[in-house]
Amino acid sequence: MRTIISILLAMTLSVAASASQDIPDQYPASLLYSKPVEVIPHVWSAIGATSPPTYENTGHNNNLSFIVTGDGVIVVNGGGAYLLAKALHDEIKKITDQPVKLVINENGQGHAMLGNSYWIEQDVPILAHVDAAHEFNDRARQILDGAKARLKERAAGTKIQGPTETFEDKKVIEMGDFRIEVLHLGPAHSPGDIQVWLPEQSLVIAGDMAFHERLLPIFDETETRGWVETWEGPFEELGATYVIPGHGHPTNMAQVRRYTHDYLVYLRGKVGELLENGGSLEEAYYVDQSPYKHLDTFDELATRNAGRVFVQMEFE
Ligand SMILES: [Zn+2]
Repeated sequence: MRTIISILLAMTLSVAASASQDIPDQYPASLLYSKPVEVIPHVWSAIGATSPPTYENTGHNNNLSFIVTGDGVIVVNGGGAYLLAKALHDEIKKITDQPVKLVINENGQGHAMLGNSYWIEQDVPILAHVDAAHEFNDRARQILDGAKARLKERAAGTKIQGPTETFEDKKVIEMGDFRIEVLHLGPAHSPGDIQVWLPEQSLVIAGDMAFHERLLPIFDETETRGWVETWEGPFEELGATYVIPGHGHPTNMAQVRRYTHDYLVYLRGKVGELLENGGSLEEAYYVDQSPYKHLDTFDELATRNAGRVFVQMEFE
């Protein structure tokens, strides 16, 4: 039964969820890029744009999810600005009277943490991985300045606010009808990436472990070899039926594996061949990535990703 549902889900989503980089805003009545949808009963997500952050999407270019547990709401991601977090809260209030009791940041990036400044005013505790807290601490000024330049008046109220609580490996929360396991499975896209796992529902809110529909970005701090290992080990071992990725519509493991794990392996393979043949960084930028050309943000990121993988692999 579950298999049939997940196959149907995957089919529907692959039709409905075609790339949307060219649509500047799907929910003009709100600062959110799109209206939250119920992915499985009581688990909702406002799907972000599969483009870079812009004024039009108010920096809502990642997924902002929440779980209505029966005894309070848990929000996954602070969001990229104070007013964006408020817009998400406005939607939550339309859906339930239950108060928000916890906010979880998926990592230390701006679109995970800048909205913390709204949530702290609501007296909601904020949880993140200890490495994400450090990462944000080191870069917060630069991240905030970037957001202000982009969002102009939409950045109003946004301040530097890190998490109020941190954890290292795992934190289990029993709330209402849900058992929620907040996990750090290993190195991946950025320091302190976390996954929110609902074992009874077999759903993972994967954070930036998992991408599809848009090309994933590789930063200086992204550990591509570690990401592949974390994927093949503990992330696959979850055996999730449903995946809410960091970016792109809710889907299943086959889909995110194809556009995250398989892309990393492919790109590392291409760059590895080049290194074996004594190739240079300049050549690395132009390794063939055409199988992924249809993804959003390909034009912005593909050559840069290849360059960063080259620099990493030179020292492996
Ligand atoms: Zn992200």
